[in-house]
Amino acid sequence: KSFADCGFPVQLMNAIAKQGYEKPTTIQCQALPIVLSGRDIIGIAKTGSGKTAAFVLPMIFHIMDQPELEKDEGPIGVVCAPTRELAHQIYLEAKKFAKPYNLRVAAVYGGVSKFDQFKELKAGCEIVIATPGRLIDLLKMKALKMFRATYLVLDEADRMFDLGFEPQIRSIVGQIRPDRQTLLFSATMPYKVERLAREILTDPIRVTV
Ligand code: AMP
Repeated sequence: KSFADCGFPVQLMNAIAKQGYEKPTTIQCQALPIVLSGRDIIGIAKTGSGKTAAFVLPMIFHIMDQPELEKDEGPIGVVCAPTRELAHQIYLEAKKFAKPYNLRVAAVYGGVSKFDQFKELKAGCEIVIATPGRLIDLLKMKALKMFRATYLVLDEADRMFDLGFEPQIRSIVGQIRPDRQTLLFSATMPYKVERLAREILTDPIRVTV
């Protein structure tokens, strides 16, 4: 299997090559065709597996395919992650692949100025990477609108639950249109995460690496 088999456009292929990614990792081989087909997915994978690119690459593809892309009314891709460190890592990965398309990526998490993040979101973005608590705060402040969001990723769902973010996750998911594509990644699948997956994913395909 190669990245070329995914049918990525040339700019994305160039960005992948520029990263030195020669061939897809196991999780990427399994997840990319499923996610690119528009299906929901449960990915049971750990950090280090290449799971970030497995959801970031199809996210860029998804966004470029949106007829409403020019409208500029809130993020199309929304990624929730448990910690600011992970959110920042995802942000860096997303930036690399968003750059050739001039897509704007915002990262919002606790510990830094809410006001600066408010301004950044107000200026507009196509992708937001967030920790759940801070995203809720910014939604309450009306820093962003969610009605354009159609691609939702919950990364390290088990850790988000361990940190007590279940209510925030449920609130965020409830603010995103139900016809979205939803991706859930988790290293483990405890009952609570399984239950959430059953509630918020539509006919998901499960991959385990
Ligand atoms: P992740 O599991 O997403 O945190 O990725 C782990 C590391 O693997 C990161 O440094 C990525 O940049 C790198 N990586 C992701 N996909 C590939 C690939 N297909 N080939 C080589 N390195 C990759």
